Amino acid sequence: MSERAEIFRPGQDGYTEACRVFNLAAPVRPAAATVARTPGQVRDAVRMAEAAGLGVRVQATGHAAGAARPMQDALLVRTELAGTVEVDPDRRRARIPAGTLWGDVVDAVTPHGLAAPHGSAGTVGAVGYLLRGGLSFYGRWSGLAVNSVRAVDLVTADGELRRVDDVTDPELFWAVRGGGGGFGVVTAVEIELFPVAGVVTGAAFWPVRHASRLLKEWQAWTADAPAQASTSVRVMNLPKVPEVPPELSAGPVVCIDGVVLAETAADTPVTERLAEDLLGPLRAVAEPLIDSWQPTELRAVLQAHLDPPDPVPFLGDHFVLGDIGDDGAGEFLRLVDAEAPSPLVAVGLRQLGGAYAHPDPLGGALSHVDGSFAFSTSGAPGLTGTREEIELRCATLRDRLAHWDTGTTVPSFVEDHRAPQRHLDEPSLATVDRVRDRIDPEGLFAGDVMPGSTAR
Ligand SMILES: Cc1cc2nc3c(=O)[nH]c(=O)nc-3n(C[C@H](O)[C@H](O)[C@H](O)COP(=O)(O)OP(=O)(O)OC[C@H]3O[C@@H](n4cnc5c(N)ncnc54)[C@H](O)[C@@H]3O)c2cc1C
Repeated sequence: MSERAEIFRPGQDGYTEACRVFNLAAPVRPAAATVARTPGQVRDAVRMAEAAGLGVRVQATGHAAGAARPMQDALLVRTELAGTVEVDPDRRRARIPAGTLWGDVVDAVTPHGLAAPHGSAGTVGAVGYLLRGGLSFYGRWSGLAVNSVRAVDLVTADGELRRVDDVTDPELFWAVRGGGGGFGVVTAVEIELFPVAGVVTGAAFWPVRHASRLLKEWQAWTADAPAQASTSVRVMNLPKVPEVPPELSAGPVVCIDGVVLAETAADTPVTERLAEDLLGPLRAVAEPLIDSWQPTELRAVLQAHLDPPDPVPFLGDHFVLGDIGDDGAGEFLRLVDAEAPSPLVAVGLRQLGGAYAHPDPLGGALSHVDGSFAFSTSGAPGLTGTREEIELRCATLRDRLAHWDTGTTVPSFVEDHRAPQRHLDEPSLATVDRVRDRIDPEGLFAGDVMPGSTAR
């Protein structure tokens, strides 16, 4: 394979493919774009961008295209690095080429009785998710996904390919893990895996009229829920499309989904009892419209959240909530119940706590999350409402929940680069700035820095 990068300008064949994004509501239009399949092509692209006076931007799937700043002065490097996921079962390690989707990582690691800290969708790129924190349905057990990263192969602004770990460059290794981006183009990551023998996973849906009692039961359960369980609750207005069962698109529904894991086969009976502690009281509220929760194999975790398999337009908001108590839950319900039909497809709370709350002594810039729930909203412009209607509803929700807003965000959940974001404290911001100054003195990657990830 040639080590030369093939650069496409707008209008040239190849430009559209290189700029493909999963989020169809956030098209990207860089000055030029390339698809990199080897580290050599990445190095060539970085050098060509610098020579042409362009910045460098990075993307794999474009799931986070809405969170990306405009790219008109940049060369976009789409990472589709050749190679497969290499698993070392004895060391519980996986080496993942940049551009690999989580679905492919799961396929590679599960035959070894191991799990990776992936999120709800197999279509998300492993590298972008990991660098931005990563909230996994195993996360209350295994912590923020970024803590699993043990080494990063990175092409920096000088065009050099470096293997960065806690020995070769501990400061850069610290910064790249959750520091907010702008350090270079990652060509591969090495992550630590963890043993999982089986799961109880799925999603249950009820008509929204049961929302109040369901939320009360779920909230009471979350107060001292076991770390083996990671769940979410969403109020959803699902569109009437063939992929959605008609009983779920007949009106607003409440969905409670997630995972309860068994670390070893011997833990399976305990796991099933823990799942019953969660599901029993919920099922007693009312019979679900659909209930797919069941003991099953690990790959099913990627189906539990029912994320769209193909590119869709979406637009939303996110922030971390503290303990919402009865008042916050009441406000949440009042807002999601208030007016129908809603322009939002989903308004949700992802359960935090457990291992998410513990700083990792070996971790990077972001290694834990303070807060009780990751709040998120999402609408589909053109399908569930106009862009303006969706933005207005997101702003109303943000306003009304301000009392419980911790003022922080999880970078992988941020959907809009214009929204307030903050995930690092002041000393950490000063350190990531210092690392960027050292590693990228001319600011070649400055456009890739997430807003709120710099003290400047
Ligand atoms: C359907 C769906 C489900 C999701 N589920 C979850 C979930 O369960 N938990 C969760 O935490 N998040 C979830 N997300 C959010 C997702 O983790 C983020 O959007 C993540 O940033 C996507 O990474 P990507 O590489 O696929 O996306 P991209 O948009 O391609 O990349 C996002 C950013 O990552 C950086 N990046 C990507 N590749 C590289 C590279 N090779 N080198 C350097 N930087 C790079 C760049 O800054 C880029 O702008 C979900 C999103 C969607 C749309």
